[in-house]
Amino acid sequence: MTVRTRIAPSPTGFPHVGTAYIALFNLCFAKKHGGEFILRIEDTDQVRSTPESEKMILDSLRWLGLNWSEGPDIGGPHAPYRQSERMHIYKQYALELVEKGHAFYCFASAEELDQMRIEQQARGETPRYDGRGLNLSPQEVEQRLAAGEAHVIRMKVPEEGICKFNDLLRGEVEIPWTQVDMQVLLKTDGLPTYHLANVVDDHLMQITHVMRGEEWIPSAPKHQLLYQYFGWEMPVLCHMPLLRNPDKSKLSKRKNPTSINYYKDIGVLPEALLNYLGRMGWSMPDEREQFGLADMIEHFDIQRVSLGGPIFDVDKLNWLNAQWIKSLTPAALLDRLLAWKSDRSTLEDIAAAIQPRIQLLSEAVNWAGFYFNQFPQIDKAQFESKKLTEEQVRKSLQFAIWRLESLMSWNNDTVSQTLMDLAAQMEIKLRDFMPSFFIAIAGSTSSTPVMQSMVTLGPDLTFARLRHALNLVGGPSKKEQKEWEKLNESLKLPKNDPIDNA
Ligand code: GLU
Repeated sequence: MTVRTRIAPSPTGFPHVGTAYIALFNLCFAKKHGGEFILRIEDTDQVRSTPESEKMILDSLRWLGLNWSEGPDIGGPHAPYRQSERMHIYKQYALELVEKGHAFYCFASAEELDQMRIEQQARGETPRYDGRGLNLSPQEVEQRLAAGEAHVIRMKVPEEGICKFNDLLRGEVEIPWTQVDMQVLLKTDGLPTYHLANVVDDHLMQITHVMRGEEWIPSAPKHQLLYQYFGWEMPVLCHMPLLRNPDKSKLSKRKNPTSINYYKDIGVLPEALLNYLGRMGWSMPDEREQFGLADMIEHFDIQRVSLGGPIFDVDKLNWLNAQWIKSLTPAALLDRLLAWKSDRSTLEDIAAAIQPRIQLLSEAVNWAGFYFNQFPQIDKAQFESKKLTEEQVRKSLQFAIWRLESLMSWNNDTVSQTLMDLAAQMEIKLRDFMPSFFIAIAGSTSSTPVMQSMVTLGPDLTFARLRHALNLVGGPSKKEQKEWEKLNESLKLPKNDPIDNA
């Protein structure tokens, strides 16, 4: 048996360090056993998946040197490797389960299910699908299907007892069946959910070991059941510990930048980031701290993974990066420096921005320095404004972060429009609104046009700087969080003009 592992990212956002972490361990495990590591794109969520996100994920994994031997970009014997191109495959498997009596049709509308949950909650029960579709007679199902009624296919799940499955790191894991919902396999639009597509593809792609984050443990009973229903051999499951912030909470972008591109942008070397991720819950047999990918593969042993949540600590990453920088020759370091910000179109944007402001080429360093920094040197006092209250400054930064985060594309139009709309909706003049953004991004109000700078810096550095500024002025307290979210949304609604309404 050839060991085959995979990384199966959903392209719904920025490339996450957690994806690289899981990819690294899958790659090491496969290579250590002389096997293959493949990449599959799980874009069944067609609303949230974007080609831009897919490209960023592939580019960043490749930048790290995590190469796959089959994938959507290079093909392979089990192509296509993008689930949106495999949609014709899944339905027949859902129908097969219906035929075998392991799955059933459900015609309940979203409203009906909402009502069901409300009633369950009122009775003090945990809301879950109550199996109502199972009560329909075969004739009724037939009639309603023939009438073209909207429906989903759900899997049957035992009503009692305990599901037991094996995990490579945890041994036998037990989850009561009462905690497992009768999962939808095929949605109203005839497309599969993650669970169906994931199991079918892992089987068809002959995956032998599924190594993924521990947040997927609750899905394991459903997957195990699906393998049994199909009569397929289940891959070995291995749930890796989640990366955590220094305060032990789940790694989140609010506390730590989580995009691989951010670390690339601030000048972390790919080998240092990989090395750091390799030390997340794992260590070399000789406990040495600096090691490369080939070393890690050579000494890899999955049993050395410890389950205590590994802490992703940027200071430690920086320390390790320094070790890697020190181990380069000066000539190699120069090559790295020149390659780091060598993108011509970005440099040209910077040149265009500083052009009207410099008399001498030597002044370029001062005007353009902030484009290359991690953060500008700033303090809280700089955000004090004669025109705005402290609360307005805090809200403007937080609302801007939320709105910019939801942008699908990052360009002059989208970024400027977002900030201009926000200022207008907060009823703040643009010239009073912008200074905090200048300070957050460039460290000073006399700088190149800030919206353009945000576009040139890219979303990762922009968000890191805006969050850094927000932390200085004070982000929303726990109490304010919900209230602010609501306020931000309500500001977007069109205001009723009393005269029009009269
Ligand atoms: N598409 C899932 C994700 O985004 C894959 C989970 C798995 O590995 O099964 O993480």
